[in-house]
Amino acid sequence: MFFSRLWRAANRLGQAFGESIFRKEQMGFLPLILKALGLRANALGKGACDVAGFGGCFAKCKGSLMPIKNRFAEWLPQITAWRQDFHAHPELMFDVQRTAGKVADLCRSFGCDEVVEGIGLSGVVVVIKGRKSTSGRVIGLRADMDALPITEQTGLDYASKTPGKMHACGHDGHTAMLLGAARYLAETRNFDGTAVCIFQPAEEGGGGGKVMVDDGLMDRFGIQEVYGMHNMPGIPVGAFGIRDGAIMAAADTVDILITGKGGHAAKPQDCIDPVVVASHIILALQTIASRNVDPLQQVVVSICVVETDSPASNVIPQTVKLKGTVRTMDPKVQDLAEQRLAEIAQGTALALGARAEVSYRRGYPVTVNAVANTGYATEVARAISADVDTNIAPMMGAEDFSYMLNARPGAYIFVGNGDTAMVHHPSYNFDDDVIPFGASWYAGMVEARMPV
Ligand SMILES: [Zn+2]
Ligand SMILES: [Zn+2]
Repeated sequence: MFFSRLWRAANRLGQAFGESIFRKEQMGFLPLILKALGLRANALGKGACDVAGFGGCFAKCKGSLMPIKNRFAEWLPQITAWRQDFHAHPELMFDVQRTAGKVADLCRSFGCDEVVEGIGLSGVVVVIKGRKSTSGRVIGLRADMDALPITEQTGLDYASKTPGKMHACGHDGHTAMLLGAARYLAETRNFDGTAVCIFQPAEEGGGGGKVMVDDGLMDRFGIQEVYGMHNMPGIPVGAFGIRDGAIMAAADTVDILITGKGGHAAKPQDCIDPVVVASHIILALQTIASRNVDPLQQVVVSICVVETDSPASNVIPQTVKLKGTVRTMDPKVQDLAEQRLAEIAQGTALALGARAEVSYRRGYPVTVNAVANTGYATEVARAISADVDTNIAPMMGAEDFSYMLNARPGAYIFVGNGDTAMVHHPSYNFDDDVIPFGASWYAGMVEARMPV
Protein backbone atom coordinates (compact mmCIF):
# COMPACT_ATOMS: atom_id res chain seq x y z
CA MET A 1 0.00 0.00 0.00
CA PHE A 2 2.71 2.39 1.08
CA PHE A 3 4.80 1.40 -1.89
CA SER A 4 1.96 1.67 -4.36
CA ARG A 5 1.33 5.25 -3.19
CA LEU A 6 5.02 5.99 -3.50
CA TRP A 7 5.02 4.39 -6.94
CA ARG A 8 2.22 6.66 -8.14
CA ALA A 9 3.97 9.67 -6.62
CA ALA A 10 7.19 8.65 -8.35
CA ASN A 11 5.42 8.35 -11.68
CA ARG A 12 3.88 11.79 -11.31
CA LEU A 13 7.25 13.27 -10.41
CA GLY A 14 8.80 11.34 -13.28
CA GLN A 15 6.40 13.00 -15.70
CA ALA A 16 7.04 16.39 -14.14
CA PHE A 17 10.82 16.11 -14.40
CA GLY A 18 11.18 14.31 -17.68
CA GLU A 19 10.56 10.61 -17.74
CA SER A 20 13.95 9.71 -19.16
CA ILE A 21 15.53 9.97 -15.71
CA PHE A 22 12.89 7.73 -14.24
CA ARG A 23 12.74 4.80 -16.59
CA LYS A 24 11.66 1.93 -14.43
CA GLU A 25 13.34 -0.77 -16.45
CA GLN A 26 16.71 0.91 -16.03
CA MET A 27 16.54 2.15 -12.49
CA GLY A 28 14.63 -0.66 -10.77
CA PHE A 29 11.67 -0.08 -8.52
CA LEU A 30 13.16 0.99 -5.19
CA PRO A 31 15.97 3.23 -6.47
CA LEU A 32 13.38 4.93 -8.66
CA ILE A 33 11.25 5.79 -5.65
CA LEU A 34 14.27 6.94 -3.67
CA LYS A 35 15.33 9.07 -6.58
CA ALA A 36 11.86 10.54 -6.93
CA LEU A 37 11.84 11.36 -3.21
CA GLY A 38 15.24 12.96 -3.57
CA LEU A 39 14.04 15.08 -6.43
CA ARG A 40 10.90 16.01 -4.50
CA ALA A 41 13.11 17.24 -1.67
CA ASN A 42 15.15 19.09 -4.28
CA ALA A 43 12.02 20.58 -5.81
CA LEU A 44 10.72 21.76 -2.44
CA GLY A 45 14.07 23.25 -1.61
CA LYS A 46 14.48 24.67 -5.11
CA GLY A 47 16.27 27.94 -5.04
CA ALA A 48 18.15 27.05 -1.90
CA CYS A 49 19.84 24.13 -3.63
CA ASP A 50 20.30 25.95 -6.92
CA VAL A 51 21.69 29.08 -5.36
CA ALA A 52 23.81 27.28 -2.84
CA GLY A 53 24.80 24.70 -5.43
CA PHE A 54 26.34 21.40 -4.50
CA GLY A 55 28.08 22.63 -1.36
CA GLY A 56 24.78 23.85 0.01
CA CYS A 57 23.13 20.57 -0.89
CA PHE A 58 25.87 18.66 0.92
CA ALA A 59 25.41 20.79 4.02
CA LYS A 60 21.63 20.60 4.05
CA CYS A 61 21.01 17.16 2.72
CA LYS A 62 24.01 15.05 3.69
CA GLY A 63 22.88 11.59 4.62
CA SER A 64 19.69 11.84 2.60
CA LEU A 65 19.59 11.29 -1.12
CA MET A 66 20.04 14.59 -2.87
CA PRO A 67 20.50 13.33 -6.37
CA ILE A 68 20.61 15.25 -9.57
CA LYS A 69 21.10 18.94 -9.92
CA ASN A 70 17.89 20.55 -11.04
CA ARG A 71 19.74 22.33 -13.81
CA PHE A 72 20.90 19.11 -15.43
CA ALA A 73 17.36 17.74 -15.35
CA GLU A 74 16.18 20.93 -17.07
CA TRP A 75 19.03 20.87 -19.59
CA LEU A 76 18.79 17.18 -20.37
CA PRO A 77 17.13 17.64 -23.80
CA GLN A 78 19.78 20.14 -24.88
CA ILE A 79 22.76 18.14 -23.60
CA THR A 80 21.23 15.06 -25.24
CA ALA A 81 21.02 16.98 -28.54
CA TRP A 82 24.74 17.86 -28.31
CA ARG A 83 25.55 14.21 -27.55
CA GLN A 84 23.55 12.88 -30.47
CA ASP A 85 25.08 15.45 -32.81
CA PHE A 86 28.58 14.29 -31.77
CA HIS A 87 27.39 10.71 -32.26
CA ALA A 88 26.25 11.42 -35.82
CA HIS A 89 29.62 13.04 -36.65
CA PRO A 90 32.37 10.82 -35.22
CA GLU A 91 36.01 11.80 -35.73
CA LEU A 92 39.16 9.73 -35.16
CA MET A 93 42.37 10.26 -33.23
CA PHE A 94 43.67 13.84 -33.39
CA ASP A 95 41.36 14.61 -36.32
CA VAL A 96 38.55 15.99 -34.17
CA GLN A 97 38.22 19.47 -35.70
CA ARG A 98 34.43 19.53 -35.89
CA THR A 99 33.94 18.20 -32.38
CA ALA A 100 36.60 20.44 -30.84
CA GLY A 101 35.23 23.44 -32.74
CA LYS A 102 31.73 22.84 -31.42
CA VAL A 103 33.07 22.34 -27.86
CA ALA A 104 34.96 25.65 -28.08
CA ASP A 105 31.99 27.56 -29.56
CA LEU A 106 29.60 26.26 -26.91
CA CYS A 107 32.01 27.06 -24.07
CA ARG A 108 32.39 30.63 -25.40
CA SER A 109 28.60 30.94 -25.53
CA PHE A 110 28.44 29.80 -21.86
CA GLY A 111 30.67 32.77 -20.92
CA CYS A 112 33.63 30.66 -19.80
CA ASP A 113 36.66 32.84 -18.97
CA GLU A 114 39.17 31.25 -21.35
CA VAL A 115 38.73 28.83 -24.23
CA VAL A 116 42.08 27.65 -25.57
CA GLU A 117 42.17 25.46 -28.68
CA GLY A 118 45.05 23.41 -30.03
CA ILE A 119 46.49 22.12 -26.75
CA GLY A 120 47.94 18.70 -27.58
CA LEU A 121 47.32 19.32 -31.31
CA SER A 122 43.50 19.40 -31.20
CA GLY A 123 42.56 19.43 -27.50
CA VAL A 124 40.43 22.21 -26.01
CA VAL A 125 41.05 23.62 -22.53
CA VAL A 126 38.35 25.73 -20.89
CA VAL A 127 38.96 27.87 -17.80
CA ILE A 128 36.09 28.89 -15.49
CA LYS A 129 36.79 31.09 -12.49
CA GLY A 130 34.74 30.70 -9.32
CA ARG A 131 32.87 33.42 -7.51
CA LYS A 132 35.86 33.63 -5.18
CA SER A 133 39.53 33.05 -5.87
CA THR A 134 40.99 33.17 -2.36
CA SER A 135 41.78 29.44 -2.20
CA GLY A 136 44.24 29.56 -5.11
CA ARG A 137 43.06 26.07 -6.01
CA VAL A 138 42.68 24.67 -9.53
CA ILE A 139 40.77 21.46 -10.33
CA GLY A 140 40.94 19.76 -13.75
CA LEU A 141 38.08 17.72 -15.27
CA ARG A 142 38.76 15.61 -18.34
CA ALA A 143 36.61 14.16 -21.12
CA ASP A 144 37.75 12.47 -24.34
CA MET A 145 36.32 13.43 -27.75
CA ASP A 146 37.46 10.80 -30.28
CA ALA A 147 35.61 7.90 -31.91
CA LEU A 148 36.67 4.47 -33.22
CA PRO A 149 37.24 2.99 -36.69
CA ILE A 150 34.16 0.75 -36.45
CA THR A 151 31.13 0.52 -38.76
CA GLU A 152 28.05 1.32 -36.69
CA GLN A 153 25.23 -1.25 -36.50
CA THR A 154 22.82 0.44 -34.09
CA GLY A 155 20.25 1.53 -36.67
CA LEU A 156 19.70 4.73 -34.67
CA ASP A 157 18.22 7.73 -36.47
CA TYR A 158 21.28 9.71 -35.32
CA ALA A 159 23.75 6.92 -36.21
CA SER A 160 27.16 7.80 -37.66
CA LYS A 161 26.96 9.62 -40.97
CA THR A 162 30.54 8.55 -41.73
CA PRO A 163 30.93 4.90 -42.74
CA GLY A 164 33.71 3.16 -40.83
CA LYS A 165 33.72 5.63 -37.96
CA MET A 166 31.63 5.34 -34.82
CA HIS A 167 31.35 6.66 -31.28
CA ALA A 168 31.53 3.12 -29.90
CA CYS A 169 33.21 4.02 -26.60
CA GLY A 170 30.79 6.73 -25.44
CA HIS A 171 33.24 9.61 -25.73
CA ASP A 172 30.33 11.55 -27.31
CA GLY A 173 28.58 11.18 -23.93
CA HIS A 174 31.68 12.15 -21.93
CA THR A 175 32.14 15.31 -24.02
CA ALA A 176 28.45 16.27 -23.72
CA MET A 177 28.43 15.71 -19.95
CA LEU A 178 31.54 17.84 -19.43
CA LEU A 179 29.98 20.53 -21.63
CA GLY A 180 26.90 20.44 -19.39
CA ALA A 181 29.11 20.81 -16.33
CA ALA A 182 31.02 23.71 -17.94
CA ARG A 183 27.75 25.50 -18.66
CA TYR A 184 26.56 24.95 -15.07
CA LEU A 185 29.87 26.06 -13.54
CA ALA A 186 30.01 29.19 -15.73
CA GLU A 187 26.44 30.05 -14.76
CA THR A 188 26.63 29.39 -10.99
CA ARG A 189 30.35 29.97 -10.20
CA ASN A 190 29.61 28.53 -6.81
CA PHE A 191 33.21 27.67 -5.92
CA ASP A 192 36.36 29.29 -4.60
CA GLY A 193 39.10 28.71 -7.16
CA THR A 194 39.40 27.77 -10.83
CA ALA A 195 37.88 24.89 -12.80
CA VAL A 196 39.71 23.67 -15.92
CA CYS A 197 37.71 21.51 -18.34
CA ILE A 198 39.98 19.37 -20.52
CA PHE A 199 38.57 18.02 -23.80
CA GLN A 200 41.19 15.66 -25.20
CA PRO A 201 41.64 14.00 -28.60
CA ALA A 202 43.05 10.58 -29.48
CA GLU A 203 42.30 8.45 -26.42
CA GLU A 204 41.82 5.41 -28.67
CA GLY A 205 45.45 4.53 -29.29
CA GLY A 206 46.91 7.97 -30.04
CA GLY A 207 47.91 8.89 -26.50
CA GLY A 208 46.20 12.30 -26.71
CA GLY A 209 46.35 12.53 -22.93
CA LYS A 210 50.13 12.27 -23.05
CA VAL A 211 50.39 14.76 -25.90
CA MET A 212 48.34 17.29 -23.90
CA VAL A 213 50.51 16.76 -20.78
CA ASP A 214 53.67 17.08 -22.90
CA ASP A 215 52.21 20.30 -24.33
CA GLY A 216 52.33 21.81 -20.82
CA LEU A 217 48.67 21.30 -19.88
CA MET A 218 49.23 20.96 -16.13
CA ASP A 219 51.74 23.78 -15.64
CA ARG A 220 50.23 26.24 -18.09
CA PHE A 221 46.80 26.10 -16.42
CA GLY A 222 48.13 25.47 -12.90
CA ILE A 223 46.10 22.28 -12.47
CA GLN A 224 46.56 20.74 -9.00
CA GLU A 225 44.20 17.77 -9.17
CA VAL A 226 42.55 16.05 -12.11
CA TYR A 227 39.43 13.89 -12.42
CA GLY A 228 38.20 11.70 -15.27
CA MET A 229 35.17 9.53 -15.95
CA HIS A 230 34.20 6.69 -18.30
CA ASN A 231 30.83 5.08 -18.87
CA MET A 232 30.65 1.33 -18.37
CA PRO A 233 28.06 -1.13 -19.69
CA GLY A 234 27.06 -3.70 -17.08
CA ILE A 235 26.94 -1.12 -14.29
CA PRO A 236 23.35 0.15 -13.83
CA VAL A 237 22.46 3.66 -15.01
CA GLY A 238 22.69 5.93 -11.98
CA ALA A 239 25.41 3.83 -10.33
CA PHE A 240 29.15 4.54 -10.04
CA GLY A 241 32.18 2.28 -9.63
CA ILE A 242 35.65 3.21 -8.42
CA ARG A 243 38.63 1.82 -6.51
CA ASP A 244 41.80 3.34 -5.17
CA GLY A 245 45.13 2.27 -6.62
CA ALA A 246 45.30 0.60 -10.03
CA ILE A 247 41.98 0.67 -11.87
CA MET A 248 43.16 0.08 -15.48
CA ALA A 249 46.15 -1.92 -16.76
CA ALA A 250 49.34 -1.04 -18.58
CA ALA A 251 49.61 -2.75 -21.97
CA ASP A 252 53.12 -3.10 -23.43
CA THR A 253 54.41 -4.92 -26.51
CA VAL A 254 57.68 -6.76 -27.00
CA ASP A 255 59.66 -7.97 -30.01
CA ILE A 256 62.62 -10.33 -29.58
CA LEU A 257 64.93 -11.05 -32.54
CA ILE A 258 67.10 -14.14 -31.99
CA THR A 259 70.06 -14.58 -34.31
CA GLY A 260 71.88 -17.90 -34.51
CA LYS A 261 73.70 -19.61 -37.36
CA GLY A 262 71.64 -21.31 -40.02
CA GLY A 263 72.51 -24.37 -42.02
CA HIS A 264 71.56 -27.91 -43.01
CA ALA A 265 69.06 -29.47 -40.64
CA ALA A 266 71.06 -32.71 -40.75
CA LYS A 267 74.23 -30.99 -39.54
CA PRO A 268 73.18 -29.19 -36.29
CA GLN A 269 76.75 -29.38 -34.99
CA ASP A 270 77.69 -26.75 -37.59
CA CYS A 271 74.79 -24.44 -36.65
CA ILE A 272 73.48 -22.40 -33.73
CA ASP A 273 69.79 -23.26 -33.89
CA PRO A 274 67.70 -20.14 -33.10
CA VAL A 275 64.51 -22.26 -32.89
CA VAL A 276 65.92 -24.16 -29.92
CA VAL A 277 67.11 -20.88 -28.39
CA ALA A 278 63.66 -19.33 -28.90
CA SER A 279 62.03 -22.34 -27.25
CA HIS A 280 64.22 -21.96 -24.17
CA ILE A 281 63.47 -18.25 -24.04
CA ILE A 282 59.68 -18.74 -24.29
CA LEU A 283 59.74 -21.22 -21.40
CA ALA A 284 62.13 -19.15 -19.30
CA LEU A 285 59.91 -16.07 -19.70
CA GLN A 286 57.19 -17.91 -17.78
CA THR A 287 59.35 -17.53 -14.68
CA ILE A 288 58.60 -13.79 -14.63
CA ALA A 289 55.07 -14.57 -13.46
CA SER A 290 55.90 -17.71 -11.45
CA ARG A 291 59.25 -16.78 -9.82
CA ASN A 292 59.89 -13.03 -10.03
CA VAL A 293 56.61 -11.20 -9.40
CA ASP A 294 54.83 -11.34 -6.04
CA PRO A 295 52.07 -13.96 -6.45
CA LEU A 296 49.52 -11.48 -5.05
CA GLN A 297 50.22 -9.07 -7.92
CA GLN A 298 49.00 -9.34 -11.50
CA VAL A 299 51.22 -9.87 -14.54
CA VAL A 300 50.68 -11.47 -17.93
CA VAL A 301 53.57 -12.31 -20.26
CA SER A 302 52.31 -13.87 -23.49
CA ILE A 303 54.49 -14.70 -26.48
CA CYS A 304 51.95 -14.83 -29.27
CA VAL A 305 53.99 -14.97 -32.49
CA VAL A 306 56.97 -17.17 -33.48
CA GLU A 307 58.41 -16.50 -36.96
CA THR A 308 61.49 -18.06 -38.56
CA ASP A 309 63.17 -16.83 -41.70
CA SER A 310 62.87 -20.19 -43.43
CA PRO A 311 59.78 -22.12 -44.58
CA ALA A 312 61.74 -25.32 -45.16
CA SER A 313 61.57 -28.37 -42.94
CA ASN A 314 65.19 -29.30 -43.65
CA VAL A 315 66.81 -25.92 -42.94
CA ILE A 316 67.92 -24.56 -39.59
CA PRO A 317 66.99 -20.88 -39.92
CA GLN A 318 69.26 -17.95 -39.28
CA THR A 319 66.80 -15.96 -37.14
CA VAL A 320 63.61 -16.30 -35.11
CA LYS A 321 61.35 -13.39 -34.24
CA LEU A 322 59.09 -13.52 -31.17
CA LYS A 323 56.27 -11.06 -30.53
CA GLY A 324 54.21 -10.72 -27.41
CA THR A 325 52.39 -8.57 -24.89
CA VAL A 326 52.92 -7.74 -21.22
CA ARG A 327 50.02 -6.61 -19.01
CA THR A 328 50.55 -5.25 -15.50
CA MET A 329 48.58 -3.33 -12.86
CA ASP A 330 51.47 -1.86 -10.91
CA PRO A 331 54.26 0.39 -12.21
CA LYS A 332 56.87 -1.49 -10.14
CA VAL A 333 55.73 -4.82 -11.58
CA GLN A 334 55.83 -3.27 -15.05
CA ASP A 335 59.45 -2.14 -14.47
CA LEU A 336 60.38 -5.59 -13.13
CA ALA A 337 58.73 -7.40 -16.06
CA GLU A 338 60.53 -5.22 -18.61
CA GLN A 339 63.89 -5.71 -16.90
CA ARG A 340 63.55 -9.50 -16.45
CA LEU A 341 62.28 -9.95 -20.00
CA ALA A 342 65.46 -8.41 -21.42
CA GLU A 343 67.76 -10.25 -18.98
CA ILE A 344 66.16 -13.65 -19.60
CA ALA A 345 66.07 -13.31 -23.39
CA GLN A 346 69.62 -11.98 -23.72
CA GLY A 347 71.08 -14.27 -21.04
CA THR A 348 69.46 -17.42 -22.42
CA ALA A 349 70.55 -16.60 -25.96
CA LEU A 350 74.10 -15.95 -24.78
CA ALA A 351 74.22 -19.23 -22.84
CA LEU A 352 73.29 -21.09 -26.02
CA GLY A 353 75.71 -19.21 -28.27
CA ALA A 354 73.13 -16.95 -29.96
CA ARG A 355 72.17 -13.30 -29.69
CA ALA A 356 68.85 -11.74 -28.71
CA GLU A 357 67.81 -8.15 -29.37
CA VAL A 358 64.86 -7.05 -27.27
CA SER A 359 62.60 -4.17 -28.23
CA TYR A 360 60.13 -3.34 -25.44
CA ARG A 361 57.54 -0.66 -26.16
CA ARG A 362 55.45 0.78 -23.39
CA GLY A 363 51.81 1.48 -24.19
CA TYR A 364 49.54 3.44 -21.86
CA PRO A 365 50.78 3.19 -18.26
CA VAL A 366 48.75 1.81 -15.36
CA THR A 367 45.85 4.11 -14.43
CA VAL A 368 46.38 4.69 -10.73
CA ASN A 369 43.82 6.46 -8.53
CA ALA A 370 45.34 8.36 -5.59
CA VAL A 371 43.82 7.23 -2.30
CA ALA A 372 42.72 10.64 -0.99
CA ASN A 373 41.31 11.76 -4.35
CA THR A 374 39.42 8.48 -4.73
CA GLY A 375 37.77 9.35 -1.42
CA TYR A 376 36.77 12.81 -2.69
CA ALA A 377 35.41 11.35 -5.94
CA THR A 378 33.45 8.75 -3.96
CA GLU A 379 31.87 11.38 -1.68
CA VAL A 380 30.63 13.36 -4.66
CA ALA A 381 29.28 10.20 -6.34
CA ARG A 382 27.49 9.23 -3.12
CA ALA A 383 25.76 12.60 -3.01
CA ILE A 384 24.37 11.81 -6.47
CA SER A 385 23.71 8.08 -6.25
CA ALA A 386 22.76 5.48 -3.66
CA ASP A 387 24.75 2.91 -5.64
CA VAL A 388 28.51 3.56 -5.47
CA ASP A 389 30.81 0.53 -5.54
CA THR A 390 34.18 1.54 -4.09
CA ASN A 391 35.82 -1.81 -4.76
CA ILE A 392 35.16 -2.60 -8.40
CA ALA A 393 37.53 -5.09 -10.00
CA PRO A 394 40.39 -3.48 -11.96
CA MET A 395 40.00 -3.73 -15.73
CA MET A 396 42.74 -5.06 -18.03
CA GLY A 397 42.01 -2.41 -20.67
CA ALA A 398 44.27 0.64 -20.78
CA GLU A 399 43.44 4.36 -20.62
CA ASP A 400 45.59 7.37 -21.45
CA PHE A 401 44.10 9.42 -18.60
CA SER A 402 46.89 7.52 -16.79
CA TYR A 403 49.36 10.12 -18.13
CA MET A 404 47.37 12.90 -16.47
CA LEU A 405 47.17 10.93 -13.21
CA ASN A 406 50.94 10.42 -13.37
CA ALA A 407 51.33 14.20 -13.67
CA ARG A 408 48.85 15.19 -10.94
CA PRO A 409 46.94 13.37 -8.17
CA GLY A 410 43.35 12.58 -9.02
CA ALA A 411 40.87 9.81 -9.70
CA TYR A 412 39.04 8.05 -12.52
CA ILE A 413 35.50 6.79 -11.99
CA PHE A 414 33.09 4.58 -13.94
CA VAL A 415 29.50 5.70 -14.40
CA GLY A 416 27.01 2.96 -15.26
CA ASN A 417 25.71 2.73 -18.84
CA GLY A 418 23.19 -0.01 -18.02
CA ASP A 419 22.50 -3.18 -19.94
CA THR A 420 23.96 -2.22 -23.33
CA ALA A 421 26.46 -3.79 -25.71
CA MET A 422 30.04 -3.46 -24.44
CA VAL A 423 32.13 -0.47 -25.48
CA HIS A 424 33.93 -1.01 -28.84
CA HIS A 425 31.00 -3.15 -30.10
CA PRO A 426 29.20 -1.97 -33.29
CA SER A 427 25.83 -2.11 -31.44
CA TYR A 428 27.00 -0.09 -28.43
CA ASN A 429 25.39 3.27 -27.66
CA PHE A 430 25.84 5.74 -24.82
CA ASP A 431 22.64 6.01 -22.75
CA ASP A 432 21.50 9.63 -22.50
CA ASP A 433 19.89 8.89 -19.13
CA VAL A 434 23.46 8.81 -17.76
CA ILE A 435 23.93 12.52 -18.53
CA PRO A 436 22.47 14.01 -15.30
CA PHE A 437 24.59 11.66 -13.18
CA GLY A 438 27.84 12.24 -15.02
CA ALA A 439 27.39 16.00 -15.41
CA SER A 440 26.48 16.28 -11.71
CA TRP A 441 29.62 14.37 -10.77
CA TYR A 442 31.89 16.60 -12.87
CA ALA A 443 30.35 19.79 -11.49
CA GLY A 444 30.18 18.32 -7.99
CA MET A 445 33.94 17.64 -7.97
CA VAL A 446 34.60 21.35 -8.49
CA GLU A 447 32.14 22.54 -5.84
CA ALA A 448 33.18 19.89 -3.32
CA ARG A 449 36.94 20.41 -3.74
CA MET A 450 36.73 24.22 -3.77
CA PRO A 451 33.81 25.16 -1.48
CA VAL A 452 32.93 28.84 -1.18
ZN1 LIG B 1 37.55 2.85 -25.99
ZN1 LIG C 1 36.76 5.09 -24.02
